[in-house]
Amino acid sequence: MTRQRGFWARQPLPTRILVGLAVGLTLGLLANLLAAGEPWLDSFIAYVAYPIGQIFLRLIFMIVIPLIFAALTLGVAELGDLRRLGRIGAKTFGFAFSVTLISVTIGVLLVNVVRPGEGIDPAAADALRQSLVSAEARRPVEQAAEAKPIVDTLLDIIPRNPLEDAARAFDPTYRGGGLLAVMFFSLIFGVALALTDRTRTAGLVAAIEGLYEVVMRIIGFAMRLAPYGVAALIFTISARLGFDILGVLAKYVGVVLAGLLIHQFGVYSILVRLLARMSPLVFFRKIREIMIVAFSTSSSNATLPTALRVSEERLGVPRHISGFVLTLGSTANQNGTALFEGVTVLFLAQFFGVDLTIPQQVQVVLMSILAGIGTAGVPGGSLPLIVLVLQSVGVPAEGIGVILGVDRILDMCRTTVNVTGDVACAAFVARSEGYELNSSTDNEPGLAEV
Ligand code: ASP
Repeated sequence: MTRQRGFWARQPLPTRILVGLAVGLTLGLLANLLAAGEPWLDSFIAYVAYPIGQIFLRLIFMIVIPLIFAALTLGVAELGDLRRLGRIGAKTFGFAFSVTLISVTIGVLLVNVVRPGEGIDPAAADALRQSLVSAEARRPVEQAAEAKPIVDTLLDIIPRNPLEDAARAFDPTYRGGGLLAVMFFSLIFGVALALTDRTRTAGLVAAIEGLYEVVMRIIGFAMRLAPYGVAALIFTISARLGFDILGVLAKYVGVVLAGLLIHQFGVYSILVRLLARMSPLVFFRKIREIMIVAFSTSSSNATLPTALRVSEERLGVPRHISGFVLTLGSTANQNGTALFEGVTVLFLAQFFGVDLTIPQQVQVVLMSILAGIGTAGVPGGSLPLIVLVLQSVGVPAEGIGVILGVDRILDMCRTTVNVTGDVACAAFVARSEGYELNSSTDNEPGLAEV
């Protein structure tokens, strides 16, 4: 018994989550096949599977507000050097913002064209949604979404009372800016912090850094529960929907991967050619090592040392530029993550049959861009933000159970896109500052050597 437990605990987390997915899915499908509609199955879902899934989700919910505040504030405050670096900072920020906008747009277009979340029996989807979101909560959301003009949606991003927005960020009936307003407040706070005399703010910065560390630790606790939470959430969903869910999941993975591929090899190739004046083939060949490390670690932060070394040695980006752009980019420039978030939220909205209005879709795009800044460059760093964005547009956060099981592979791919974006940005900044990049492929090691 003890040995068995040791074996399970020794498995890497992604493996355990995958096992959780497989077990939950198999049992859910079996239950759907054998006992759909039986009262005992409904009771089992209501009293066992649902609460277990909720424990996992709530552990994530409870840290999201402090996480966003700490991550965004620190992310921007680190730009304090912006003033010193002036042009380089402005170029980096401009690149990050506009390229992230492109990536989210690609994702949103794809998900609207392919509509991967459709294809399940609408009655079943509706029943599922009914059971996950209470009717009182839903009605006003629908009304609110219909009634709110886009000008107000945009104005509400600037909070009157950020504490109210924070307190009601999960309340689907709330008509203010909610999460987006909290994000805005954190950005402004970060900007002001960066512009204030360091001797007066050192303690505050240290405290926010401490807050960030503690919050990351709590996410660690939640992730330890993830295999069980995922099993419970996917059981709930597959027991209700049956085999339809497999096709839907495959389409979702396909859409995310297609979007990431277009961005990685289409958009970046054009940008590298136009902005860094370098052959995309040479560029990708030179940064292979970075892509491999990003893919295998699923962490922009863990890839940073490799990215710094390779861009200096192989691409010839000067150290003062790569140091600034890549460090900042590893948390603040996450094109792949933003694309993934946009696709996932809209996919789950389709999946649960929640019609998002145009203002709500704009809200998802904006949040995905900001989430690209607020996401920690660690494996699964974007998941807490997805949960929050889902909730704020009235899509059941339980949907995370649908995607978590396949998240590792998507994480590997989006991290590769994130880091490639940082390096492309460094190459662009170096080039625009008048440095020659190293385009020669002589003395390049073969793939076997990297
Ligand atoms: N793993 C990603 C990164 O480090 C973040 C995420 O999307 O979860 O870049």
